[in-house]
Amino acid sequence: MTAFDFDLFVIGAGSGGVRAARVAASYGARVAIAEEFRFGGTCVIRGCVPKKLLVYASRFADDFSDASGFGWSVDDPDFDWPSLVAAKEKEITRLEGLYRGTLQRVGATVFQERAVLTGPNTVSLQKSGKTITAARILIATGAKPNLDAALPGIEHVITSNEAFDLKVLPSRITIAGGGYIAVEFASIFNGLGSEVTLLYRGEKILRGFDEDMRDGLTTAMQARGIHVITNDVFTSIDKTRNGLVGHLKSGTTIEADQIMFAIGRSPNTSELGLADAGVKCGVSGEVIVDDANQSNVPSVYAVGDVTNRVSLTPVAIREGHAFADSVYGGNPWTVDYATIPTAVFSTPEIGTVGLTESEARSGGREIDIYKAAFRPMRVILAGRDERTLMKLIVDAKSNAVLGVHILGPDAGEIVQMAAIALRLKATKADFDQTMALHPSAAEELVTMRDKWVPPVA
Ligand code: NDP
Repeated sequence: MTAFDFDLFVIGAGSGGVRAARVAASYGARVAIAEEFRFGGTCVIRGCVPKKLLVYASRFADDFSDASGFGWSVDDPDFDWPSLVAAKEKEITRLEGLYRGTLQRVGATVFQERAVLTGPNTVSLQKSGKTITAARILIATGAKPNLDAALPGIEHVITSNEAFDLKVLPSRITIAGGGYIAVEFASIFNGLGSEVTLLYRGEKILRGFDEDMRDGLTTAMQARGIHVITNDVFTSIDKTRNGLVGHLKSGTTIEADQIMFAIGRSPNTSELGLADAGVKCGVSGEVIVDDANQSNVPSVYAVGDVTNRVSLTPVAIREGHAFADSVYGGNPWTVDYATIPTAVFSTPEIGTVGLTESEARSGGREIDIYKAAFRPMRVILAGRDERTLMKLIVDAKSNAVLGVHILGPDAGEIVQMAAIALRLKATKADFDQTMALHPSAAEELVTMRDKWVPPVA
């Protein structure tokens, strides 16, 4: 019998923390978990899940307008934002219950309050004032939205945290940022009928993605009426009787009902007592851990966004699982961070796995590029002009497919499958020998025969 109250104390009941707690408990560990907000973490409560529900809602706009091309008449569809928020709330409450139920079923002790470290093996519970000891502590507190604190008027802006529960749908919204969240919410509000401006500090949105995807999505978003401003930032924001007025570095002003900042997220480690426990953090506040998710203090581990490695839900879940299997299950393994597929749920959406063209070319590697741009069947009858883009990056020597990039409907779904092929080191010849599934958009991936040749200048 150990001298500690618990074998494992998990701080944060999000994707990574709950997975670790559940698996550790299944091996017989005495587990406690503390959560100061709602069970399920960012993904379930104010991230991936509610975001995807809003994405679905926003895409009905296309369904209604495309319908007449297929013989339907849909008169005057009307959208009610409070109904959507209520439906979304019902679903995340259901999921929150499932998370909590799972923890109770495996016998974890649940504390609904903030916990902070007071030493390598102790935490202090902030509401009840209790001190708990544990042989190991797992930090799984996620990340929180960044804000430009020095910007005059920053108190008037919202982040994704608030965007899900606005009382009214903004008629005009400006979103600052050019990453996942900014682009996804720009499409959501555009689809729901808001007038949307996307304000990005750089040359082109979605830095780090393949150039063709960045260009293609920018064109598509603009064609859908999103006003994309690049190379500019807010210098101040005023609140007026008619809403908000944002002043830009270029001298322009933008009027909006809401201004949303989506300029990245930072590890949620402030006032967590990490320094008191001697835990080393990096420049962004992230807990520094090794491949085994262990910090410099042997009893303290961390998984998920709080470690600022790859900030994606499935990665946090894998890290939590690997931690529990390794420490409590006698089955040590580490997460493989290669070929992680990802999607940007803009409309149209991007799905991507593997190297971008510029990453593949770096280091002098010779590559072949295959590209297809076409109007999908549905769009033709609907009378829209939006194109699906598909791009394969292939190693010219080994013929291995290094990257798959898709912009268009269901890109995320398609790329999840392509990720299996890339993991298995499929070659372009394997793609070519795979029988096409007709008629589908995805069949283009196995029917692209001609190498792309850059246009002569
Ligand atoms: P991202 O890191 O994706 O993008 C941040 C954006 O904000 C970039 O365009 C960046 O510009 C810009 N930016 C950063 N600092 C400033 C500043 N001071 N002023 C103006 N602009 C600034 O962050 P997000 O907030 O969009 O999302 C956070 C993370 O959440 C993502 O990285 C991803 O890991 C995860 N996520 C994943 C989703 C998915 O899988 N579909 C969906 C949503 C989030 P620059 O490029 O010039 O640095």
